[in-house]
Amino acid sequence: MRYSELGRDNVRKGLGQDLLKRLADIVGEKYVLTDDEKMEKYSHDETMGYQFFPDAAVMVETAEEVSKVLRLAGQYSIPVTPRGLGTGLSGGCLPIHRGIVLSMERMNQVLEIDEENLMVVTQPGVITGELHRTVEQQGLFYPPDPASLDSCSIGGTSPRGQGDRGRFDTERPRTMSAAWRRCCPRERSSPPEARWSRMLPVTTSPNS
Ligand SMILES: Cc1cc2nc3c(=O)[nH]c(=O)nc-3n(C[C@H](O)[C@H](O)[C@H](O)COP(=O)(O)OP(=O)(O)OC[C@H]3O[C@@H](n4cnc5c(N)ncnc54)[C@H](O)[C@@H]3O)c2cc1C
Repeated sequence: MRYSELGRDNVRKGLGQDLLKRLADIVGEKYVLTDDEKMEKYSHDETMGYQFFPDAAVMVETAEEVSKVLRLAGQYSIPVTPRGLGTGLSGGCLPIHRGIVLSMERMNQVLEIDEENLMVVTQPGVITGELHRTVEQQGLFYPPDPASLDSCSIGGTSPRGQGDRGRFDTERPRTMSAAWRRCCPRERSSPPEARWSRMLPVTTSPNS
């Protein structure tokens, strides 16, 4: 539904001061945004003509924070929409049910490059182009190659199978992901540490 048809002011509920304080206790006050001017960025992606404001935009830094926010949101049945860097062209990160936009932009570290097994462990907010450059320094190659290379996140390239402009047909991010760390409202037993992606040595053809 188009934002203009929704009549935003009529549906706005807000989260309440108590809940906002609990979110701030998890991520820090400056990483919980509620005023419209600051949330404008989180109300749209690159899809033309759609805009939905959340009740709050929350910028997490660790997987533990993600879990805590999800647990809190689950407790109050608040919708949560994950957001990478908002370059999507199909509205995937739009908070159409309001609630919380969970932004991954602060989770921007490449954690480990395992040259022997051609695996990399990253946080989801790493810019795809940064991952390219980081592994290239070690003579490796991460094939997914979207035109938005320097503005989209590694986490945002996988959920809908995006992330390529067709040059390396068989190596879309989703097919290259060996594991994601799932963060759930409830504790799960020993998930993998983070998301892994298979890499290729630069000398290997992606289709071989
Ligand atoms: C100029 C331009 C060029 C583009 N070129 C291409 C191209 O060549 N090929 C292509 O396929 N696409 C392309 N796109 C679309 C877009 O860049 C890709 O879809 C990109 O993968 C989105 O990444 P993002 O970080 O911006 O994700 P977002 O738009 O923020 O999110 C995309 C989806 O991923 C979900 N998500 C994000 N992070 C997580 C997470 N950590 N866990 C779970 N779900 C998450 C969101 O909820 C949403 O559903 C282009 C876009 C632009 C503006």
